[in-house]
Amino acid sequence: MKDAQLIDSFNRQIRYLRLSVTDRCNLRCTYCMAEDMQFLPKSQVLTLEEMAAVGEAFVALGVEKIRLTGGEPLVRKGVVSLAERLSSLNGLRELVMTSNGVLLTQHAQALVDAGVSRINISIDSLQAERFKTLTRFGSIDDVFAGIDAAIKAGFKKIKLNAVIMKGHNDDEILDLTQFAIDKGLDISFIEEMPLGDINSHIRAQTSLSSASISDVLKSRYTTQESDFEDPASGPSRYIQITDTNTKVGFISPMSNNFCGSCNRVRVTAEGQLLLCLGNEHSLDLRSIVRERPDDLQSEIVNAMQRKPERHYFDPNEITIRRHMSATGG
Ligand code: SAM
Ligand code: SF4
Repeated sequence: MKDAQLIDSFNRQIRYLRLSVTDRCNLRCTYCMAEDMQFLPKSQVLTLEEMAAVGEAFVALGVEKIRLTGGEPLVRKGVVSLAERLSSLNGLRELVMTSNGVLLTQHAQALVDAGVSRINISIDSLQAERFKTLTRFGSIDDVFAGIDAAIKAGFKKIKLNAVIMKGHNDDEILDLTQFAIDKGLDISFIEEMPLGDINSHIRAQTSLSSASISDVLKSRYTTQESDFEDPASGPSRYIQITDTNTKVGFISPMSNNFCGSCNRVRVTAEGQLLLCLGNEHSLDLRSIVRERPDDLQSEIVNAMQRKPERHYFDPNEITIRRHMSATGG
């Protein structure tokens, strides 16, 4: 479809695709997954070839940035070769990844060599015992080693991500920020979203707004609003910690509705095109890529008309049964 673009019915142009390469993970973060998760059988997951075809279709339609995510993208065999293939697409400005960092000692250099320019690494606690509790069995030392491997490998940008929950890790806001400063990295604090049933805590009791996190930061650091803006990244507010290289981002899906400037869609590992994180509107791309691949682009263009105007999240209510790991964070 020559010169087609992805414009939805609210005149938003979609330039950013989050592609989940697996719903599986080597951790079980309490806010993301229930203890007992059912994962997709292999036959229902897109092959790497099919994922590449989906990525190609989006780039041909004007998508400039792809984020490989999951589940944990690094548990998917062949993800580096997928990265290589996507990064060479004409028109793609950036290929990036979100990872829990556990396997980065093995893969960081290969990812950089394959054209992954930036990486977000999730780290919700610096304390070994607490990290283990939050992830159900993870070792913080693996993540520390992964972060160091990523720094050594030479990504253009590394950002840490932390979901902050009242009573669980909100006493580490300053420690996590100082860790980022000491490593020369950026960090984003994320408000927990009510995606999927979990059994570890009641989300309404742990939710903490970005404004409260910002207040904690200002108790120690001098900050200034940052003009940092990435047109393909969409809305995230940043502040600069004065006299450091560190920017702190706030991702506020609960307290600040940023849907008006939404520029992204997601594709799950089973090939569902999700038009909004907080709604069920979707299109089954797997059957299209398997049965009538020539229609892929036109079906994606048409699906944009079904992108909802905004999400409505209520921490007291789970309206979306999909876990974040299945959604593609
Ligand atoms: N496994 C990788 C990781 O943890 O970075 C990538 C996938 S994970 C689903 C992507 C991001 O979503 C992580 O930063 C994670 O902390 C965040 N996340 C997961 N569940 C969430 C929830 N319910 N609310 C807000 N953020 C969540
Ligand atoms: Fe796995 Fe990432 Fe979900 Fe944690 S947040 S369980 S690392 S997918």
